[in-house]
Amino acid sequence: LPTARIDKLLSSMGYGSRREMAALAKAGGIKLDGQALADVSDRIALNPDLPQRMRVAGKALDPLQGLVLMLNKPLGMTCSHKEEGALVYEVLPERWRRRDPMISTIGRLDKQTSGLLLMTDDGALLHRVISPKMHVTKSYLATLDRDLRGDEGAMFASGEMMLEGETKPLEPAVLEVISERQARLTVTEGRYHQVRRMFAAVGNHVTALHRESMGRLHLPEGLDPGQTKLLDADEIALIF
Ligand code: URA
Repeated sequence: LPTARIDKLLSSMGYGSRREMAALAKAGGIKLDGQALADVSDRIALNPDLPQRMRVAGKALDPLQGLVLMLNKPLGMTCSHKEEGALVYEVLPERWRRRDPMISTIGRLDKQTSGLLLMTDDGALLHRVISPKMHVTKSYLATLDRDLRGDEGAMFASGEMMLEGETKPLEPAVLEVISERQARLTVTEGRYHQVRRMFAAVGNHVTALHRESMGRLHLPEGLDPGQTKLLDADEIALIF
């Protein structure tokens, strides 16, 4: 099992400087299995159950490195620092925004798209999820401005559909018609504004877009917009 210096570990998790961690330990604020840890230069084994066993300033230790979170992204929040408005990172506890490695979104949703957004500090996992080779499916509930014509499903499934300004056809996608102006679209790519542009290419316009699932991982009923949930290994496995 890898080990880490207590002060370095806590500092990388955003708890404060190493000097602050030393002071906190001296005051009895860092405990393992109920015992105060006095010397923060000691090394500690990075047991997966450390968050259950360790308390920092009276609270359970935050999740260790390698975390994956799901967010029910509210409308109006952006995934990119380059866009205007509130950032999705603002839903995270302050300390979690200071972690190293940092937590970032796995792909992006538009400012005006809601639903399932994953975040992680695991770069390798991030790349596996967004890699086109992995073909991770993403399902979106789209509300439309006009009635569906009836030929959209065949076009999306063809593998020959071309988006404006692009030279590579889209991978086949699956359309499930829910009503005249509502459909679920499942894609395996993540091109810029892909779902909106696909409907635009068939003469329609998306008025609301919500991501329901990635792979077999679904946004749970009880997770309200703005809420996050830490995923366990079984849930992470559902993505692929
Ligand atoms: N397709 C879009 O057009 N927007 C999103 O946010 C996601 C997929």
